[in-house]
Amino acid sequence: MKKYSIGIDLGGTKILIALVERESGKVVDFVKKKMKKEKGSKNVIRKMLSGIDELFEITKVDKSEINSIGVAAAGQIDRENGLIIGAPNLDCFDLNIRQILESEYNLPVYLANDVEAATIGEMKFGSGKGVDDLVCVFVGTGVGSCIVKDGKIIRGATGTAGEIGHIIVDLNGRPCACGANGCLEAYASRSAIEKRIEGALKKGRHSVILDYLEEGKSITSSMIRKSIEREDELVTHCVDEAAIYLSGGLASIINFVNPKLIILGGGLIEAVDYFYKKTIKNAKLKCLPVPATKIEFKKTSLGDFSGVIGAAYLDI
Ligand SMILES: [Zn+2]
Repeated sequence: MKKYSIGIDLGGTKILIALVERESGKVVDFVKKKMKKEKGSKNVIRKMLSGIDELFEITKVDKSEINSIGVAAAGQIDRENGLIIGAPNLDCFDLNIRQILESEYNLPVYLANDVEAATIGEMKFGSGKGVDDLVCVFVGTGVGSCIVKDGKIIRGATGTAGEIGHIIVDLNGRPCACGANGCLEAYASRSAIEKRIEGALKKGRHSVILDYLEEGKSITSSMIRKSIEREDELVTHCVDEAAIYLSGGLASIINFVNPKLIILGGGLIEAVDYFYKKTIKNAKLKCLPVPATKIEFKKTSLGDFSGVIGAAYLDI
C-alpha cells in the first residue's frame, strides 16, 4: 500500500482537495477552491485539475507515492462507471470524472456520494469510530444521510438509500427541488430557513440579520448564529421550526433503523449549536421509548474534512 491518497470533495460552494496519509487519516495539506456563480462541468473540471496540480506543488509529493484519487460529489453517482449522473448544485450532468482524472494522472479513481464519503471519514477517524450501527445526517443546502449497519454502508437497489431529505412530512406541503411536495428538506435545511427568513423580510418583518446581510448576498449559517445570539425573534422562530421538523426526521430514523448513534454534520449544525441541541432534544422525545434508550447523538468531529478523508479510502 502506498503512503498517500488524494481525497476530493466537490460541493456546491467549494471544492476541497486534500493529500491524506493512509495510515493515520491525517490531512497533510489541502487546497480549497471557491465555487461561485460559474458552475457547470467545464468550470468544475478546470478548478479541480488546477487544485490537484497546486496540491502536488505545495506538498512536493511524488505521484509514485499516491495510491488513488477518491472523489466525493454532492449528487447522484454511478460508482461502477465513475460518472456523476446528476449534481444540480454543481450544474454537472453525465460527467465522466474517472475518465478525466485517470487520463490526466494515471492513477486509480473512485467515486462516491458526498454524504457517503463523509460517513466513511467519520467512521474511520471521527465521531463514529468503533460504532457499527449508525446514521450520519448532514444539514446544509439539503438534508442527506447515510446508514451504516454492521459496519457496512446500506446503499439499496439503486444506490440511493438514505435520502432522508425526501421523506415526506406533509403530503400537500412546500415544493421540493426533487419535484415532490412536502419533503423534509423543504422544512429542515439551511435553504429552507433562508427562504422563510427572506420571505418574512420581504413582507416587511424586522430582523437583526439585516445588519449582516449585504445586498444581493445570501444568508449564511454564521449570520443565523449571530442573530440567535442577539435573540432575534424572526430568525429564532424560523430555526425553531426547522429544528422541530428535523427532530421528526431523526425520530423516524431512530424508529425505522434503530441505530446506536446518529452523527450530525453540515454547516448549519456546526455553526448553530442552538439548532443542534433543540433538534436532538426533540428527536429523543418524539421517537419510540425502546429505541430511545440506546440512541446517542454526536456532531461530526472531522468538520469540513470528513468528505476528503472518506474519499481517500474509497478503494477499500
Ligand atoms: Zn424532495
